[in-house]
Order: sequence, then structure tokens, then C-alpha cells
Amino acid sequence: MRRVTRREALKLVGVAGAVAATGGASAQGQPATPMPNGAGFYRFKLGDFTLTILSDGQTPPGNAFPNWGANPGRQAEFAAALRENFLEPTQFINNFNPMVVDTGQAKILIDTGRGPTGRMLAHLANAGLRPADINIVFITHGHGDHIGGLVTNGQPTFPNARHLIGETEMQFWLSQANPPANLVALRERFTLVRPGAEIAPGLTAVDTAGHTVGHLAVQVRSGDQTLWHLGDAGGHHILSFRFPDHYLGFDANPQQAVVTRARLWQTAAAERIMVVGYHFAWPGVGHVRRAGNAYEFVPAFFVF
Ligand SMILES: [Zn+2]
Repeated sequence: MRRVTRREALKLVGVAGAVAATGGASAQGQPATPMPNGAGFYRFKLGDFTLTILSDGQTPPGNAFPNWGANPGRQAEFAAALRENFLEPTQFINNFNPMVVDTGQAKILIDTGRGPTGRMLAHLANAGLRPADINIVFITHGHGDHIGGLVTNGQPTFPNARHLIGETEMQFWLSQANPPANLVALRERFTLVRPGAEIAPGLTAVDTAGHTVGHLAVQVRSGDQTLWHLGDAGGHHILSFRFPDHYLGFDANPQQAVVTRARLWQTAAAERIMVVGYHFAWPGVGHVRRAGNAYEFVPAFFVF
């Protein structure tokens, strides 16, 4: 199967120009009507911090490939691995999992969902939070399904927040012929950070280039517990663990994305670091463990 072109991939994740406002759903149809099943958030403790994963909703079922396994000639192998996990390759449901970290001193939102077509703000309200409560917005990268919620009706959605994004990432997008409208709109509000920068006490930006040129994940540490919100550095919750060379049609630099994932899984498995994947199956939080010459993602169980 051919690789999805970069242009197609960008269109599918809703990156450029006006597409950013509607996000991935424009290419994949309207979000499915949510079933009355949970409130769209999952909250748990990490040391002294309270973490809340917010669903921005899900896409209707669609083909997993080529976007969620783009290596040429490997789709049959990938499809078999999905079926082994009781997932039908033609019924892939994409998730979008932003997260709020409440350190007690500040509330930090990591990524903002798709915007108008997404459900993140409704689920933020379900979790008892208002947009004005957010003190810091951190953007992992400039794809439309991560920055679509930055602006609402022409105004910053999170009016009291400092906005942070990687310096390399911002410079890349602003140098494009059609830079994402939401990054342009808020460019004066953004503080540009480098890998290793402290986002807030306990939160650090982690160099995870590959999915995009300046992608940054977030390390959250409280007490003796550590969690990484991977943004899109994690890829797919089954295929990116099981196949060490697996990459996405959305990965700007597939080889670099593969190297980055290998480093992440090795460290997460060795140090028992929890991970959250932005597109992993809801709520997308769990651990990483070795499985033969590769890894597997072990989803966390809900805790009430
Ligand atoms: Zn994404």
C-alpha cells in the first residue's frame, strides 16, 4: 500500500489554514453521537498532583490504514496484530486526549483538542473546571487536532493562561506558506520554550522530535511518581509498541519518530513511568513493558 503523502496526512489531521478551525473531523465526518457512558473525563492522582484526562471526543469508525501504520508493504501484518487484539482494521476509532495537571499551585492544560467540532470544553465543564481556571496552556505540536481549541469565536479560549510551545515547532509553522490560523492569532501570547524547560514546578518539556520537527512531550513528576504525556510521540497504542519500526502517515520524519519512540519505551519500561497517548484508546493512560524484542502498552485500570 502506498504511503500517504505529507499533504494528505496534514489534511487528515486538519493542519493548514482554515482546516485548523474544524480539525480532523472535517475529513472524517461529524463526530459520532456520544453514548451516555461516562462524563468524558478521567481523573487520578500522581503523587500530590491531580491529573484529569479530557476526551475531545472520538471519530466514527474508519480505516486504520495507511495513516495509523504507514510502512510500505506492512499493512497485512499490522492488520493481523489489530485483529489479535480484537480490533477490526476497518473500524478504527481515533481518540483525542488532552490533559489538565493541577499541581495545587497551577492548572496546566496540555493540548486543546480540535476546537468547534470537539467535545473538550464540554468535558472540562463536566470535570468542574472553567476555561478561565487554566493558568498555563502547553502545546505539544502544531497539528490542528491539538491547537484547534486555542481560539473560540476569535478570542483566546483560555483568557488567563500563559501559552507555551516549542521554539522550533512555532518557527516551523510560522514559516509555512499557510501557517495554522490559531498559532498566528495567538503568536504574541506564546512563550517559546526549549527541550528541558520547566513548564511549571514538576512539569518539564521533553524533546520528542520526529512526529513534527519540534514536538515536545511533557514529563510530570510528583513525589516518587513520574508520568509522560506523550502528545503524538506515542503513535498507536498497539502497533507503535509491538513493531519497533512502525510509524504513522502523520509522522513528519518517520525515521526520527521511530528512534524517539524506541528511546521513550526503553526508559518508560525500565523506570516504570506512566504514559498518556493523545490518540491512544480512551483514556489512553497506562504503563509500558517489554515483550520479547519489543514492548506493549498496559492500560491502567479505572480508579474511583
Ligand atoms: Zn494528533
